[in-house]
Amino acid sequence: AIVPERAAHETRSTCPYCGVGCGVIVESVDGRITGVRGDPDHPANFGRLCAKGSTLHLSAAPELAPQIRALHPELRTARSAPRQAVSWNDALDHLARRFAGIIAEHGPDSVGFYISGQMLTEDYYVFNKLAKGLIGTNNVDTNSRLCMSSAVAGYKQTLGADAPPCSYADIDDASCLFIAGSNTAWAHPIVFRRIEQAKAARPAMRLIVVDPRRTETAEFADLHLQLLPGTDVALFHAMLHLMIWEDLIDPAYIAAHTTGFNALRELVRDMTPAKAAGICGLREADIATAARWFALGGPGAAAATRRPTLSMYCQGLNQSSCGTAKNAALINLHLACGQIGKPGAGPFSLTGQPNAMGGREVGGMANLLSAHRDLSNPDHRAEVARLWGVDDVPAARGKTAVEMFEAAARGEVKALWIACTDPAQSLPDQALVRRALEAAELVVVQEAYVTAATVAYADALLPATTWGEKEGTVTNSERRISRVRASVRAPGLARHDWAIAADFATRLEALLPRRAAPHGAGPMAPSGRQLGGRPTLFPYTCAEQVWNEHRESTRGRDLDITGLSWSILERDGPQQWPYPEGARGGKTRLYENATYPTADGRARFAATPYAPVAEACDARHPFALTTGRLRDQWHGMSRTGSVPRLFGHAPEPCIDLNPADLARRGWSDGELLRVSSRRGDLVLPARASDGLRSGQAFIAMHWGAEYLAGRGAEGQARLGVNGLTLPVFDPQSFQPELKHAAVRLEAANLP
Ligand code: SF4
Repeated sequence: AIVPERAAHETRSTCPYCGVGCGVIVESVDGRITGVRGDPDHPANFGRLCAKGSTLHLSAAPELAPQIRALHPELRTARSAPRQAVSWNDALDHLARRFAGIIAEHGPDSVGFYISGQMLTEDYYVFNKLAKGLIGTNNVDTNSRLCMSSAVAGYKQTLGADAPPCSYADIDDASCLFIAGSNTAWAHPIVFRRIEQAKAARPAMRLIVVDPRRTETAEFADLHLQLLPGTDVALFHAMLHLMIWEDLIDPAYIAAHTTGFNALRELVRDMTPAKAAGICGLREADIATAARWFALGGPGAAAATRRPTLSMYCQGLNQSSCGTAKNAALINLHLACGQIGKPGAGPFSLTGQPNAMGGREVGGMANLLSAHRDLSNPDHRAEVARLWGVDDVPAARGKTAVEMFEAAARGEVKALWIACTDPAQSLPDQALVRRALEAAELVVVQEAYVTAATVAYADALLPATTWGEKEGTVTNSERRISRVRASVRAPGLARHDWAIAADFATRLEALLPRRAAPHGAGPMAPSGRQLGGRPTLFPYTCAEQVWNEHRESTRGRDLDITGLSWSILERDGPQQWPYPEGARGGKTRLYENATYPTADGRARFAATPYAPVAEACDARHPFALTTGRLRDQWHGMSRTGSVPRLFGHAPEPCIDLNPADLARRGWSDGELLRVSSRRGDLVLPARASDGLRSGQAFIAMHWGAEYLAGRGAEGQARLGVNGLTLPVFDPQSFQPELKHAAVRLEAANLP
């Protein structure tokens, strides 16, 4: 509950930044958040916080609100006119009429919702039901598409369900840790502290890091495989080749618990470590060492005395045009060696955002369905329709993130509702995204921060609450569900995301032809609000009611949380799923009995060949650009950008280049360079970094148009790093290849 004014108070909540999901204790006095400290009882962090988490209170200072927060609903009636402040009733009535009109004229797929892994599970649930249940479109996708969708597809393809098998506690039991495509030290700092602690306690533990850059994480490794961008599948296949050749695999596990090994063995027969060394730019001996350590849990063991290997991975595998293949090829290694389902062993994807996992659980994506049901399965669609009390859920996959904006640019998606995310900075090919935002008939932006670049395109701006003001739940990387609690009142007229969506949905429900089945609002819905004498599909009066409806939808599913009420979360603290009715706790580790959620109970090897990056470097665009996070900033800096001390680590954006590349061209550190791809260009100061190989470049993702305009950049050069990236995506996960683009560099020669 929100604390009364003038009372000093402490509230247990969860950090809203990364997927580690650290528990925080929020201190507030007189309705103002005055401090944050780590929650010593939270199993994700045991009291620790990183630089971002420990400065949360500074980003929530009330005096910042007039500059950075959206405070009132605003509408504009013409693109050329400024938005005017309006009441919530006027804003939502207007939007319901506009959506109803567009749907009546062009059909349900002419509207789309682009939401966010920053949202709470309850927010996600209502948006998903609004699109798929009320309107009858699967056009609901999220910025988690840019983050974890390849991990989802990789798990489903091999293990049968989107269920990360491991926990942070496995770090303490691992003999070998294999980190691929993750600068854990910066992107998941509190997990990295645990890795450092484990290594200090057990110096024999081996750490292998696979990354094209020599990051802080790679510096700490026993073996750094500094491979060429996008060549991970070749590396993993070559490791399996050597494991087979040297009898390091676990034939008994393969025979009893998996299918598809013969096809995979045939595929990797040709990928020798020598061949992969050429593709990946690595030493053959290093590939062999990595394979032996992975298979046996470090040096000095034999197959009979195998020790546990844990792999952790993130955007380097996911943000790729072959992200699913990369995830699956890594999971293949675990299955081949029986390195799964026991303490310290298994594949463990790290989620980028605080609640990318919760969004997956409610099925809040264009190709997913609630509670890990399958959109292509008619029985699953009928089950969800029955639970929601609607006639059906459409079968056709909706438009995923990039597709939704491409469709808007073509005029097919006419109304875009964007909530809690900033596509005008974060999606690839920014020129295309901005054309889409201009072409759409109606752009609704539901947002806490007016500093988001997308706000400039909003026909309707709906002010939302944010961290410190919201109630609900999030799920972190290890399937642990934590409560987010309000400490203070929201500024201005800001409302909770789920409440805005539900209020809009109720109004739209009155205008659309009835899609509800004769039994009304479905068996799960709480009784309460009515719509013209009949039950509405959105009767919620608090976030807990939404949670309870979501819980019920998971009954009998692999992520069953029917036993996890808010009162249990209150009593026992954060819990891992599954947590079915009657359980006394969640599950630390999945697949301990080697039974998988597939038709035959066996895991499946994936035999997908190596494919190079989508856009090869050539003479015109000779540099391989990659993008990523910095230690002390978060996404587009809506929050962290308001905390001056967080700029101490990296005060401004730059392009990192190998010193030899700078010297060869006669450029110096700090010189302004124009970076051009086939889609746009960008002007940034150069910085020498020997963490990159020659021919490679790195730009952080955080800075966007506003900063770059201030540096004298013009036109497209203001669009931030995603003015350069390409909208090509993985055919299974639909995740775009944000980790690689071919670029050329020249001196900027600005006036
Ligand atoms: Fe927050 Fe992630 Fe830092 Fe933990 S590690 S305090 S969740 S940003």
